[in-house]
Amino acid sequence: MNAHPHPVLLQGGTVVTVDVDDRVFSGDVLIEGGRITALGAGLKVAPGTRVVDVSGCIVSPGFVQAHVHLCQVLFRGFAEELPLLPWLKERIWPLEAAHSPSTLGASARLGIAELLLGGTTAILDMGTVNHHDAVFDAAAALGIRMTSGKAMMDKVGQSALDESTAASLSSSNALADRFHRSASDRLHYAFAPRFILSCSDELLRATLIEARARGCLVHTHASENPGEVDAVKAATGTDNITALHQRGVSGVDVVLAHCVHLSPGERALLKSTQTRVVHCPSGNLKLASGTAPITELLGDGVVVGLGADGAPCNNRMSAFSEMRLAALLQKPLHGADALPARVALRMATMGSASVLGRADEIGSLEVGKRADVVVTGLARPHLRPISDPVATLVYAAEAGDVVHVFVDGHQLVRDRRLLRTDLATILDDAELAATELLARAGLSSLRTSMAVPP
Ligand SMILES: [Zn+2]
Repeated sequence: MNAHPHPVLLQGGTVVTVDVDDRVFSGDVLIEGGRITALGAGLKVAPGTRVVDVSGCIVSPGFVQAHVHLCQVLFRGFAEELPLLPWLKERIWPLEAAHSPSTLGASARLGIAELLLGGTTAILDMGTVNHHDAVFDAAAALGIRMTSGKAMMDKVGQSALDESTAASLSSSNALADRFHRSASDRLHYAFAPRFILSCSDELLRATLIEARARGCLVHTHASENPGEVDAVKAATGTDNITALHQRGVSGVDVVLAHCVHLSPGERALLKSTQTRVVHCPSGNLKLASGTAPITELLGDGVVVGLGADGAPCNNRMSAFSEMRLAALLQKPLHGADALPARVALRMATMGSASVLGRADEIGSLEVGKRADVVVTGLARPHLRPISDPVATLVYAAEAGDVVHVFVDGHQLVRDRRLLRTDLATILDDAELAATELLARAGLSSLRTSMAVPP
């Protein structure tokens, strides 16, 4: 796994680089030693290089989703038509609390399979409270690039997930010591206080100290939903982003999912502190949270990434769906030229890579960068006629159009099939684990009468 893969030449594609000039050209991408070593037309290669014909395809950077929950993938379809706080309290937290290491591993493998098959090569993942090593084990085995942390919550008071401040810190530290910069630097640890309402001030302050001492990101949720914003104001006496900032939770190494509801003062704080924001348009619509002011944030120079959030609030984990929605949602607000395709693609690649603090390594096709590369086929009716490849990727393409996927130069998907694992086993394991999980959470009645494979 850590050995360098064979050199590969992706030959004769339409290469969408997402470099500083948004360069698009017809030609080749050479991958050697896990990195991109040449870009151009008619590249010559050394003997032993595997040549992959990608004519008629778009070659792009792998998509980076900067906010997902692999622990929730098994809850897909079991938390419908609810707003955020009841969605969390009635479904998500009881199901998370019911996870065993084996059901958590099954959930993570199902999610990673979906992500890789849809061209997502890197994620920032927020876990649940317990058994989080199962998520790292799944990512290590399946080959995706992941920054992830267990959820920290010492102040819920009503949930089986509640933990003491000391236990939350010590278990997070132990995971960081074990997994940060592991698997040849493919896996990173992030400290993940769930949201301000679930964390004591003491936990938030100590978390920032521990994370910064280790060079880890801090990832949390903020200002997703009006009910949550009101609850934060009642609890802290001020706005969410302001309250986080007062507790030290701001800066270039802090990643806030959502930021849908922001006061002018909060926007100014995000701008001045360069705190990172992740836009999750599908989840914001499905939980009736609202539309984030992404045009305004980008205008302020805030770094914004993109993510599908959890499977039960989406219900896809597709970078294509999120790019398309991110672009479409801004148009009724700001005009048809708002958030154009090239900006949506940049958000899903370089934007999210910057959120992860890895823009020097991933997010674009440039010589010297790690070879996280996606090949998208165009031989399907919804992608024709051939037109602007960037608009095609953002507005027309779907996860199922991805043909080949490379991470660190290792091919993980070939001809729409996972190479490193058996998909049928992942699907069977997921069904068994979902049945087990629903029973443990007392939610078996949510299984519909639809036949579940044996
Ligand atoms: Zn989330």
